[in-house]
Amino acid sequence: MISMRDVYKKYPNGVVAANGINVDIRQGEFVYVVGPSGAGKSTFIKMMYSEEKPTSGDVIINGKNVGKMKNKQIPALRRQLGIVFQDFKLLPKLNVYENVAFALEVIEEHPKLIKKRVMDVLDLVGLKHKMRMLPSELSGGEQQRVSIARSIVNIPKIVIADEPTGNLDPENSWEIMKIFEEINTRGTTVVMATHNREIVNSIRKRVIAIEGGMIVRDADGGDYGYEG
Ligand code: ADP
Ligand code: ADP
Repeated sequence: MISMRDVYKKYPNGVVAANGINVDIRQGEFVYVVGPSGAGKSTFIKMMYSEEKPTSGDVIINGKNVGKMKNKQIPALRRQLGIVFQDFKLLPKLNVYENVAFALEVIEEHPKLIKKRVMDVLDLVGLKHKMRMLPSELSGGEQQRVSIARSIVNIPKIVIADEPTGNLDPENSWEIMKIFEEINTRGTTVVMATHNREIVNSIRKRVIAIEGGMIVRDADGGDYGYEG
């Protein structure tokens, strides 16, 4: 469902952030992407949702070569994916309900269906009772839960997360991880770049380690493998 073949990415400044990546991620897998800062984790993840295009090689998502997509095809790709960022990226003037409903409103889903889906995902992340609050009225952990609810409201097959616990304290990080595990249990593929050593070493999943734009380790149930 996610395949990379001989993927190479060179930024205009000459930095090679992906240097011959080959990988397959199957439906339903939970994958951590680890490695030092600057290793190429974000680039690896951004190529999956076509935020960056490979310089050469193929990035195949759900059977489509996303590296060769035209710009006008990218919104349709992203609607099949859930994307979660370190800094939440919620719309500040919309309340919790509206932030989550937004993705379904733009595709003009039926209002009854929108309401049911939004309520279901707010229930999953435990924030139904705060649905009328603005992001600024929520804690960081709560904001990240809203952003996860938003990412799954359209029932994606794949959720991609770049350092989702990077701005959170340990307690909130564990809460967020429980939600990702629940999403994964329901059959959704989860790909998560993280620096969170404790989490990777406790909630054992497949670990793909990247250094210098290359996959240097790929192990089911692997450990974080770096100090600090
Ligand atoms: P990580 O997520 O592991 O920290 P990144 O994928 O962000 O790594 O970066 C990999 C390398 O590519 C780094 O050397 C970084 O400075 C460089 N890089 C990332 N984005 C860009 C960009 N837009 N333009 C130029 N260089 C970039
Ligand atoms: P229920 O009775 O199932 O709990 P309600 O009819 O009370 O549902 O609606 C719950 C709340 O959801 C509404 O009061 C409203 O604040 C919010 N809501 C529903 N639809 C929208 C929408 N399109 N945009 C923003 N908020 C909405």
